Amino acid sequence: MRNGKLSQLMQQALSGRYGSDQLGRFLSQGSVGLLVLSFLTRRLASGRLSSLFSSVGLALLFFCYYRMFSRDIVRREAENHWYLEKEWALRDWFSFRKDRYDQRKEYAFFTCPGCKQIVRVPKNKGKIRITCRRCGYSFDKKT
Ligand SMILES: [Zn+2]
Repeated sequence: MRNGKLSQLMQQALSGRYGSDQLGRFLSQGSVGLLVLSFLTRRLASGRLSSLFSSVGLALLFFCYYRMFSRDIVRREAENHWYLEKEWALRDWFSFRKDRYDQRKEYAFFTCPGCKQIVRVPKNKGKIRITCRRCGYSFDKKT
């Protein structure tokens, strides 16, 4: 019953407040990560690194709780949206790198001098003329 009472209290405290979202989770996990780092580095550089990690970690934690109990829902949602956009861009970037890495034996990758688009061509074909599919620019490369 204690638990039920506690969650009821939590619900009351959070009613009309923004609560938790993806950015909130990122902030709380980030702060825990930084506090762990701070603990691990406490003997390095006379503790300066450690206190840097712990102050940034505590700042993230503070911001996380500030957002949870905030009543300014519109602004908090905008922050979360901003965060999600960054997260997706980062995921995209990593999955692109990973694809490229997975295909490194069969394909070579070049940047088109015309439009900076990455062009993928089969590997080990000797010197070939590559025509960019996006802008039509042709250039010679050895693969
Ligand atoms: Zn191009």
